[in-house]
Amino acid sequence: KVRTRIAPSPTGFLHLGTARTALYSWAYARHHGGEFVLRIEDTDVARSTQDSVDQIIAAMNWLGLSYDEGPIYQMQRLDRYQAVIDQLIAEGKAYRCYATPEELTEMREAQKARGEKTLYDRRWRPEPGKTLPTPPEGVKPVVRFANPIEGDVTWDDVVKGPITINNREIDDLIIARTDGVPTYNFAVVVDDWDMRISHVFRGDEHVNNTPWQINIFNALGAPLPSFGHLPIILGDDGLKLSKRRGAVSVMDYAANGYLPEGMLNYLARLGWSHGDDELFSAEQMVGWFDGSHLSKSPAQWDPAKLDWVNGHYVKQIDEARLAGLVVEQLAAKGIAVTVEQVLPKVGLFKDRCATVAALADWLAMYFAPVSPSAEDLAAHVTDAVRPAVAALADRLAALTEWNKAAIQQALKETLAAVGLKMPQLAVPVRVIVCGRAQTPSLDAVLEHFDQKKVLERLQSV
Ligand code: GLU
Repeated sequence: KVRTRIAPSPTGFLHLGTARTALYSWAYARHHGGEFVLRIEDTDVARSTQDSVDQIIAAMNWLGLSYDEGPIYQMQRLDRYQAVIDQLIAEGKAYRCYATPEELTEMREAQKARGEKTLYDRRWRPEPGKTLPTPPEGVKPVVRFANPIEGDVTWDDVVKGPITINNREIDDLIIARTDGVPTYNFAVVVDDWDMRISHVFRGDEHVNNTPWQINIFNALGAPLPSFGHLPIILGDDGLKLSKRRGAVSVMDYAANGYLPEGMLNYLARLGWSHGDDELFSAEQMVGWFDGSHLSKSPAQWDPAKLDWVNGHYVKQIDEARLAGLVVEQLAAKGIAVTVEQVLPKVGLFKDRCATVAALADWLAMYFAPVSPSAEDLAAHVTDAVRPAVAALADRLAALTEWNKAAIQQALKETLAAVGLKMPQLAVPVRVIVCGRAQTPSLDAVLEHFDQKKVLERLQSV
């Protein structure tokens, strides 16, 4: 049975890279009718927080990545890891190492001086015919895995293809720290084994850990999962995507008005393709995602493409839902409105918006004062045009019906009376009433205002 997992460390928000890994793991499990597990790798006690777990779960929920088991916390499984460690020690597959940090530094310096790779020299590893030193007083040991000394570790990576590492390249990994807490590479193996994980997707940064993990699986007599290491995501500057270079938290994108559909669709394409398809739903992806067509080369984060994809969903989703999201965006700006107020207006603007935030920026003019830029005022609201604006205000004030046709009629009559062309009047009116020089058709935009508010704004200049 296909079982996949996402195993974030709860030391921050859900990073875009982790979200993509989660998406692929989820889609792979769903494609095969399998199961998807959420595991919280919280053994870094000092940096792990419940708040981070909550944020990760919120982001998974927002993206719609439902999990069948979890969250499972590693720190609640310490007894299990200890039992496996005891068993490995009893079988001679792991051993206690009393080397102090100073001794290890000295060892590495000497290796460097000889031009050798710095690998633990197995000084505490029990071997036939070898006399071990007496454990020093007061030194708490770590536990090391007795890695095979010879032979190769080979696996066929789902993403990268066949990989072979010689055991001479890797040393005896620390599997438990002096306080007994297991290290990542050990806990992950016990967990993937116990949770019957069949396919491990994770970031490229873990590819060097996999040989150790495979050796531990083998030492435990546990079946090996398949591994797929996803290439890193580069920022649009070609450097690794990081907090310093823009938003990397999924929930920051949510807060900035991206839709889960857009985010999911964009993340799906970031390292995977299905022919020429660019726009597709989560269901379609699940139908297609069989582990093939995963890209080997780094993915490039492309904000313009994300906006294009997201804009597609802004146009497409149910308008009542869109209005609800606009209400939230406006509330975040301190503008309190209802869905009923917003709903009639979204249709006029949504086509030009990449995000809900952009749409909220448009709709804010209906509910809060506008502040036209000094440049727009200087360029468009000139003394020459003020009389025409005043004349339009008079005609609009006289309207007994406030709708698009009536507004259009008032505009036309004003133009005829003052001898101007539509843009000569419409642009200053836009600047004054809407706070910007370009908008959809002016009559349609004005129709959604209260008549009184339009008059107030026109008369204020
Ligand atoms: N906790 C690890 C991480 O956040 C998990 C790696 C793995 O999936 O094995 O990168």
